[in-house]
Amino acid sequence: MAYTALSGKVPELFGTNVFNDDIMQQRLPKDVYRALRNTIDSGKELDISVANAVANAMKDWAIEKGATHYTHWFQPMTGVTAEKHDSFISPTADGRIIMEFSGKELIKGEPDASSFPSGGLRATFEARGYTAWDPTSYAFIKDDSLYIPTAFCSYGGEVLDKKTPLIRSMDAISVQALRVLRLFGDTTTRKVTTTVGAEQEYFLVDEELFNKREDLLFCGRTLFGAKAPKGQEMDDHYFGAIKPRVSAYMKELDEELWKYGILAKTKHNEAAPAQHEMAPIFTTTNIATDHNQLTMEIMKNVARKHGLVCLLHEKPFAYVNGSGKHNNWALSTDTGKNLLNPGKNPCDNAQFLLFLAAVIKGVDEYQDLLRISASSAGNDHRLGSSEAPPAIISMYLGDELEAILEALDKHESYTAEPGTMDIGAKGLPYLPKDTSDRNRTSPFAFTGNKFEFRMVGSSMSIACPNIMLNTIVAEELKQFADELEQAEDFSLSLRKLIRRVYREHRQIIFNGDGYSDEWVVEAERRGLHNLRNTVEALPHYCDEKNLKLFADHKIYTEVEMNSRRDILLEEYEKTINIEALTMIKMVKRDIIPNVSAYINKLSESVLSRRQIIRDIPCTTETELINKLSGLLDAVYAETEKLIALASKYDEIKGNVLEGSKFCSGEIIPVMEKIRKNVDALEESTANEFWPYPSYADLLFKV
Ligand code: ADP
Ligand code: MG
Repeated sequence: MAYTALSGKVPELFGTNVFNDDIMQQRLPKDVYRALRNTIDSGKELDISVANAVANAMKDWAIEKGATHYTHWFQPMTGVTAEKHDSFISPTADGRIIMEFSGKELIKGEPDASSFPSGGLRATFEARGYTAWDPTSYAFIKDDSLYIPTAFCSYGGEVLDKKTPLIRSMDAISVQALRVLRLFGDTTTRKVTTTVGAEQEYFLVDEELFNKREDLLFCGRTLFGAKAPKGQEMDDHYFGAIKPRVSAYMKELDEELWKYGILAKTKHNEAAPAQHEMAPIFTTTNIATDHNQLTMEIMKNVARKHGLVCLLHEKPFAYVNGSGKHNNWALSTDTGKNLLNPGKNPCDNAQFLLFLAAVIKGVDEYQDLLRISASSAGNDHRLGSSEAPPAIISMYLGDELEAILEALDKHESYTAEPGTMDIGAKGLPYLPKDTSDRNRTSPFAFTGNKFEFRMVGSSMSIACPNIMLNTIVAEELKQFADELEQAEDFSLSLRKLIRRVYREHRQIIFNGDGYSDEWVVEAERRGLHNLRNTVEALPHYCDEKNLKLFADHKIYTEVEMNSRRDILLEEYEKTINIEALTMIKMVKRDIIPNVSAYINKLSESVLSRRQIIRDIPCTTETELINKLSGLLDAVYAETEKLIALASKYDEIKGNVLEGSKFCSGEIIPVMEKIRKNVDALEESTANEFWPYPSYADLLFKV
């Protein structure tokens, strides 16, 4: 596809599809702009006359850009986004139309929402759900529609989406972080925002080859596939030169992302063949989440234009790495200061160490929640298989930071190269810059001025991990503020608190190799959770302490928590069920007929050869026939078993706890057996008889 270099035009192109602050200033009357800005910055309710003015300006701008429709864009529990489009047309008395868009339409929508998962929160007969404009995330134009980011809730006010709790959790952490900042004499910060940069991994495969595989089509991952002679063992793909076709894709992707105001920054080849990554510059969590959803969609759309398919599944191929999404997370003040930056002077350091302590305590006490936020059927293939972090949550701080905490604990001075740093001034040490190395095996690593949560799956919304992070850290900051606000000697109490937290929670810190078997043993000795898969992890969602956490910070009610757990379990079991049914179809309709045709061909060859030479042994054919027949019988028998299990699942699926256990305990092991035998069949079947493109085709032929 023809592509012209952009170079000088990027600044002009950036954000052209977005009704951003710049456009607002240009297009809104001053007082309207100020009122809207106030709503965006401090959540002040918008009055209807202001909303009308904003709606009108948005509509005019959108129409100039070619839009005919608008849509409330929301993020139901499906993990993908939802949209329903209405045109701007409104009939006039003389039989014509005018283009209209009111403040009311901007602020509130009523999509018929009966078919979104609600975990029993909203009975289907009571189909109404509401969408409410989120002015903190800019509206944009896509495909001739004006997209308005919205939150989604039920008639009774229960939360049905991922955005509402995310915004609530951002508010919760801001409130508590401000209390802590005040203790350090900060009187100017008015708001603390969590920031996120989500690195997105993906695979690209040829569209024609993709279309020949129903497993990719229905499940987004291969259910079968013999190992190709070459995988990622040469480390020649990671950061390798980008092939022209992929490069053309990446250029168009950047261009599209920039138009939507997405800060696409880094692109490179990843570890597995055909695997790549895009990382944006971080922004506020709410916008980062919207942008990541949009990014995933644009990645898929642009790929099709290049005759490619973008796979976002966590594990599209066995034998090579799967894909994740590194969630880089930090806290920043409205004055632009990163609270996770160790900083230069001891006072900053004291404050930094307190925030660090809050994260340490939070991650330790709520390991289960972080684990849950990265749980899905797809991610189960990735975690703990030496390509991604283990299923055990731990934290990496780096040697230096740990040494500092260690010294503090022992009342010693901290010695680092060069020279000694005294744990003196205000009771805490000076922290040198670049306090942490890289440890790629840790699920939760401090990387200099932010934490990188590496467990998240590539296809998942980042809302859930960030809801968890924001809320657990909000809770710890609250406890710290409660304690320190009462302190007589702040410095002394602060030092005591940090020391105590480190003592009580150091078990969560692990700087070693997270992929090793020894770590699993060691983690068990330390009493850390090892929730190996989604079905083991999810029930903990509604543990007493977690219900209390979310209720205390007004993120979720108990009813909402129960419904969320059920939705996630249901999503898990439905995924497994679809995979099982796809496997059955592929085996019965493609694999058995094709392999048996090949066996037939071999048998014919034996017969025709023996017509020429009566006693010719035909060893190759007979051995192959024997081997293939044996494997085929095994595949058939296991598939019959899988069919029986699938219908049994149909009977019990009403109960998600039971249904999901059944899927992981009964269905998955049988699917694994089938796969093993089918892959062995593939290895011994002639290419022309094998019904699907091979791993070699898929991974190396882009
Ligand atoms: P890598 O982890 O691949 O070495 P970097 O450390 O350069 O890459 O950054 C990864 C991501 O972290 C980027 O998306 C970047 O924008 C993001 N990031 C950097 N600083 C922050 C911050 N303060 N808050 C959130 N994310 C951040
Ligand atoms: Mg990273």
